[in-house]
Amino acid sequence: MKKSHQAEVQKLILNSAAEGNILPITSRCDSHCIFCSHKNNPPEIDVISIGVRTLEEITQTMNYLVPNQAIIIGESASSIIEGEPFTHPNFREILTILHQRFPLTPIGITTNGHHLSSDIVDFIGNLGNISLNISLNSASLYGRKLLMGNTAEQARKTIAGIKFLASQGIAYNSSMVAMPHVTGWNDMKNTIQFLSENKASVIRVFMPAFSNKALHNISPENATSYEQLREFILSLSTELACPVLLEPSYVTDLTPVISGVAKDSPAWLAGLRRGDVVCSINQKKPRCRVEAWNMLVPQGPLQVVALKNGQEQAVSWQNDFDGGSGIAMEYDFDMRRAEHIQQLVLRRPGKSLLLTSEFGHVVVQTVLASLGLVSQAEAVLVKNLTFGGTIKASGLLTVDDYYAAFKTWQVLHQEKPEQIFVPMESFNSLGFDLKHKHFKQLTNLTGVPVLPT
Ligand code: SF4
Repeated sequence: MKKSHQAEVQKLILNSAAEGNILPITSRCDSHCIFCSHKNNPPEIDVISIGVRTLEEITQTMNYLVPNQAIIIGESASSIIEGEPFTHPNFREILTILHQRFPLTPIGITTNGHHLSSDIVDFIGNLGNISLNISLNSASLYGRKLLMGNTAEQARKTIAGIKFLASQGIAYNSSMVAMPHVTGWNDMKNTIQFLSENKASVIRVFMPAFSNKALHNISPENATSYEQLREFILSLSTELACPVLLEPSYVTDLTPVISGVAKDSPAWLAGLRRGDVVCSINQKKPRCRVEAWNMLVPQGPLQVVALKNGQEQAVSWQNDFDGGSGIAMEYDFDMRRAEHIQQLVLRRPGKSLLLTSEFGHVVVQTVLASLGLVSQAEAVLVKNLTFGGTIKASGLLTVDDYYAAFKTWQVLHQEKPEQIFVPMESFNSLGFDLKHKHFKQLTNLTGVPVLPT
C-alpha cells in the first residue's frame, strides 16, 4: 500500500470511530454470499480492505469512541470493507476491553451468525449490553448452502446459535436478502417464521440489487420485483411476533404508518398493530415516520392517538427503556435534514437542484412540497451508470453519475442553477466517492457550487 493511501485509510478508520462510533476491526469474512457486492463491483471501484487489524491498533482507535452513543462493530460507514467480526482472533479480548472502557454503552455487532456457539452466546450474555444484528438470509441447510455457501455444519451451528440466543433472552435483529428466485418463497416464509418464533426483535428483508457485472444466475432479469416483495411482506400475518421491514423502504409519502409491532411489547399490549397510522404522540403531530419513531423512543409515559381501520383511537403505555415501545417504521426522511436543506435553499435567490437516487427521488419531491419549496428547488433523478443493473441507492452513486444527470437536465432546461445538493451518503468522510473522485470535482465540472447534504 502506498504511504499516501495508508494515511488516507488511517483517517477513514479514525473518522468512522469519531463520527459514527464505528470500530473497524477486520475486512475478512468467512462467508461466500452469492449476492455479496464485493464480487460484482466494476473494476474502477475503490473499496478498501483493512485486513485483520492488530489488538493494539484497535485499542488505539477506541480512544476516538464516545460513551453516549452505541458502539457499532461489523458495519461500515465508508469505503472500508467490513468483514465478519467473530473471525478476529482477539474478538473476545476486544469486547472485554470495550466493556471495561465503556461499561454503560450498548454495543451492536453485525455478524453472519457462523460463530454463535453456546460458549460465545454465554460470553456475550455475561458481558451484557450487547445486541446482535444477524444476517441470516435463510434458516434451512439448503437455503444457506445456496445463498451463503455454508457447509451443513456451519448452517446447523448458525441455526442452533439463534435458538440458544432466544433461550438466553439476548436481544438480536436479523436480516435476509430476498432471493426467492434462488431459494423459493417458502424458504423465505419459513425463515421469517423461524426468526419470529425465536424472538428476533425486527426482521429486515433486503431487496437485492445487482450491478451489470453480476453473474447471470443472480442477475436482475431473474430477480424478484419490488412490488412482489412488498406484497409478500404484506401477506404475512399481523400477528407475527416481530415486525418485518422491507428495505430499502422506497416509501413515497410521509404518512407515519406503523410497519410492525413486536408481540407483547408495550405498544402491542396497548392494541397497536401494523397499518395503524400515528396521528399524535403526547399531543404533538409527527410530520413523518422518522419523526414519529424518534418521538416514540424516550423512556417514560406515552399517549398516542392512532388511526385504526378509519377510527381514531387513544392509547397509552410506558416505555421501560429508550426504544422500548416495540414499534417499527420504515425510513422516509429525517425532517432535521429537510430543515437544513430548506435553510440552504432559502439563503440564495435562484433555483437549487437536489440530485437524488432513484430510491430517494419521490420522497424528496414530497419533502420539497411539504416545505413549500417546489418553486425554488427541483429534485432530479440520477441513474446509476457506474454500477448499472438494478442499483438504485444513493450510497453507490458517483461524481460521474451526478455529472451525467446534470448535463441531461441542463440540455432540457437551458438554465444554470444557483446551487446543487447531492446526498452525503455517496461520499466518504473525506469527501471521496467510490471511484475516489472528490465531490468538489462536481463544482469544477458544472460551474455551480455543489454541497453534499
Ligand atoms: S457476510 Fe457480508 S461481507 Fe461476508 S460474503 Fe456475505 S455479504 Fe459479503
